[in-house]
Amino acid sequence: MHVIAIGGSDAGISTALRARELDPAVEVTVVAADAYPNFSICGIPYYISGEVTHWRNLAHRTRADLEATGMRLRLDTRATRIHADTRRLVVADRNGNEEALGYDALMIGTGALPIAPPIAGLDALGPEQGVHLVHSMDDAFALTDTLERAGISRAVIVGAGYIGLEMAEGLTTRGLRVTQIEQLPEVLPTVDPELGALVHAELEQHGVTVACGTRVEAIAPAERGERALVVSATGPDGKPRSYPADVVLVVVGVRPNSELAASAGVKLGFRDAIAVDRRMRTNLPHVYGAGDCVETHHRLLGTTYLPLGTTAHKQGRVAAENILGREREFAGSLGTQVVKVFDLVIARTGLRDHEAQAAGFEPLTVASRADDHKAYYPGSHPIQMRFTAERRDGRLLGLQLVGQLGSEVAKRADVAAAAIHNGLTISELSDLDLSYTPPLGSPWDAIQLGAQTWERAARAAIG
Ligand SMILES: Cc1cc2nc3c(=O)[nH]c(=O)nc-3n(C[C@H](O)[C@H](O)[C@H](O)COP(=O)(O)OP(=O)(O)OC[C@H]3O[C@@H](n4cnc5c(N)ncnc54)[C@H](O)[C@@H]3O)c2cc1C
Repeated sequence: MHVIAIGGSDAGISTALRARELDPAVEVTVVAADAYPNFSICGIPYYISGEVTHWRNLAHRTRADLEATGMRLRLDTRATRIHADTRRLVVADRNGNEEALGYDALMIGTGALPIAPPIAGLDALGPEQGVHLVHSMDDAFALTDTLERAGISRAVIVGAGYIGLEMAEGLTTRGLRVTQIEQLPEVLPTVDPELGALVHAELEQHGVTVACGTRVEAIAPAERGERALVVSATGPDGKPRSYPADVVLVVVGVRPNSELAASAGVKLGFRDAIAVDRRMRTNLPHVYGAGDCVETHHRLLGTTYLPLGTTAHKQGRVAAENILGREREFAGSLGTQVVKVFDLVIARTGLRDHEAQAAGFEPLTVASRADDHKAYYPGSHPIQMRFTAERRDGRLLGLQLVGQLGSEVAKRADVAAAAIHNGLTISELSDLDLSYTPPLGSPWDAIQLGAQTWERAARAAIG
């Protein structure tokens, strides 16, 4: 049995590791277009900031660790064609030399590609001129090369999603003056604007200039200054704005890298991501898909596209289980995610109000706040929460939280994720036996107090 995984990141390596673990007799080959197998691209902002002192430290496992499991790594090797009828994968090395590899099962884990928005001048500019995308290890190296040039002090970041925010912190920590431009009215549009506003304030408190409701129209080399750039935008008042920069990061989201699969006859689905069933099978026999290149099964929404590293790991593992004859389904995502922005942590799981409404629920969203631990013990901070639950039966649908670093915001979101996963109601969340000691919590945990606030508001609203 020969399993080939295309892609050397979360999905591909998870498939390869699990296949080798389940059956050491299985031959496993990972074909990766780059030279960085099993690197944590999620750690790039912390390499850029200098907190991770060497890029090699971003490796989840070293190449030797991976090879010790018995998998074969074909790095700097691009998969160029899939012949599903004859079960052959054509690959090309750096010099374009092609070779066909036979497989019994193929797992496509080609990930996502960063979106290049329609900004005038963007096509003609690249790392040489100080304009960067942030997605791969090579992107990280190109960015550090720019940052190491003399006289680089002003950065403009186009986009204020979670990666843009992490980069704002990273570049500020590195000593740059950062301007963050977001076309939507508030930063971190994946949470409600009331919570985004707290993140906005945190950025400004750390010296980041934030321009929301501002649409970037063009990036061009400055007239004077060898490497400087000018970012032209339209502000919320409709008037033109201009931002000088030595380096520009464009971080506005990703799209599935599904062209190779599509050209082989693999069916695409939501947002052109590879259509897969819950066993990670595509429409072609013996061809599986996982990670950022495939659709995401969401426990509340059905099919969506939600590219996250946590999901890629799970899907890659599920693919391996099914390849080796086990019947395993991907249980589904809730879009649980967390981001640190300077001293704040923002997490969410499940649905926000408008998402729940669009999915056919009748949600009620209630804001609350509670201390992370007993206020009499030093260092307590409030956690801001927004609970979304079904109006009539109280079924928990979503939770968004913002708190201080150290306030266990992420793990509280994770408790809510476990509750939503299991279909718990708000009052069942409030009944959970959660831990307590004054330096770390309260007899009623913050999220239980928030749940009780939701119940009171629901009684007042619905009667
Ligand atoms: C800066 C940053 C921070 C992030 N932070 C988080 C976080 O905190 N939490 C979280 O859950 N997620 C985070 N993510 C998202 C997470 O990194 C991705 O969801 C995850 O990497 C997806 O894994 P993947 O294996 O599907 O694809 P990718 O990581 O995109 O890897 C794709 C692989 O396929 C290879 N490939 C592509 N085409 C070919 C081809 N034709 N032939 C051979 N190989 C090919 C590539 O070389 C690569 O090895 C972050 C992403 C970035 C960029």
